[in-house]
Amino acid sequence: MKICNVCRSQVADQYTTCPSCGSTNLTVQPNVQPQMNTYQQPAGQPMYNQAMPQYNQPMYNQPMNNQQVNQKGNFLYAIIGFLFPLIGIILYFVFKDTKPGDAKMAKNGAIVSIVIYVVFVVLIAVFAPLLSSLSSQA
Ligand SMILES: [Zn+2]
Repeated sequence: MKICNVCRSQVADQYTTCPSCGSTNLTVQPNVQPQMNTYQQPAGQPMYNQAMPQYNQPMYNQPMNNQQVNQKGNFLYAIIGFLFPLIGIILYFVFKDTKPGDAKMAKNGAIVSIVIYVVFVVLIAVFAPLLSSLSSQA
């Protein structure tokens, strides 16, 4: 808002001449700028609002941590999968969608068990003939 210095009437900003008296002697109304400044001081509150999302991010991190705990899974299922590979594989398919962490644990336990079993069988298959040949030589 401007103000006419001749007739003291308020003039809209888009006018370069006073609509009342036609004078070009217009000044920007000084009250407008202090109002802008007092608006910038509450703009400190948006600064607080910007800090609020930072507070919300830890809120987001808490569910993230819960998901990480879920993804980690219960090591008990790894032991079950290790001791009973078939049950571990069944648990994997049961938990696959609902509890991926537990499913992974059961699967890894079963895989470790199967790998150890296979290695054990291979070792027996390799060393048993050697042992028998050694014993037959003796
Ligand atoms: Zn005027």
